[in-house]
Amino acid sequence: MHKLKSLFNKLNVSNKDSNSINATIAKTDVITENHQSSNKQELNEASLNKNCSYCNKPFTEELWCKECDHRRKIEGWTSGNNDVDKFIKDTIYDARNTYKESLKWVPFGRFKDVKQIGVGGFAKVYSATWIDHGIKVALKRLNGSKNMSAVYLNELKIHWNFYKEDGMFSLKFYGMTKDPETEEFMMILQFADEGNLRSVLSHNFKNILWKDKIKYLYWLIYGLKNLHDLGYFHKDFHSGNILRVDEHQTSISDFGLSGPSNKQKSDDKICG
Ligand SMILES: [Zn+2]
Repeated sequence: MHKLKSLFNKLNVSNKDSNSINATIAKTDVITENHQSSNKQELNEASLNKNCSYCNKPFTEELWCKECDHRRKIEGWTSGNNDVDKFIKDTIYDARNTYKESLKWVPFGRFKDVKQIGVGGFAKVYSATWIDHGIKVALKRLNGSKNMSAVYLNELKIHWNFYKEDGMFSLKFYGMTKDPETEEFMMILQFADEGNLRSVLSHNFKNILWKDKIKYLYWLIYGLKNLHDLGYFHKDFHSGNILRVDEHQTSISDFGLSGPSNKQKSDDKICG
């Protein structure tokens, strides 16, 4: 990291912007859960339980396990899939004594203006408005994920671990929802207003200053280094998988092919 920083300083590029982003990210962004939920049936089923759905010990308070669930976010919902429930509840449990963020299960009805904006090999991407927070988000529907596979769970975990480690270099990962028609799972992600770096550079190459191009490169190197430090290779690293949120954030995305750095892909091709 020090080497990178001194290289960056030598290039005489201002990193003022990235400092201001750190400050913004440091401001804890706790979004309170809306439990008056749309899904009364799920609530009723959950309230029949006498044990914590996370640790399986009897509730310490009425319908509530204080040990696992300081903020009462664990009970009262289900994604319909044990692996997805466990994945989200792990993040809530991990954040129980802190102000750190955790993932949320959000019923699909909490989104409006859902429009398809992209399609890839393994997913379709939609833009949508998240009604409870009034923000535009991206919903990434994982093809054929009705029965959540180990491959998709791997993508979710890597994206979450990377985002949790250093939010500046990753698209925010808010939680999960499910397409009610196909029952495929969808990741709720930060919306990247400016699209991917490939299209940004090809449309504006001459208008973007070299100092800014170098700044994006610096952020990418830093982000990729963080990913490697976590023990992962991206394995599909190209400018189409790098998203520009705004002039202060260029993020690595799409961890669908990523995996542990000590495991080679079967075709022996590793990019990033
Ligand atoms: Zn518990």
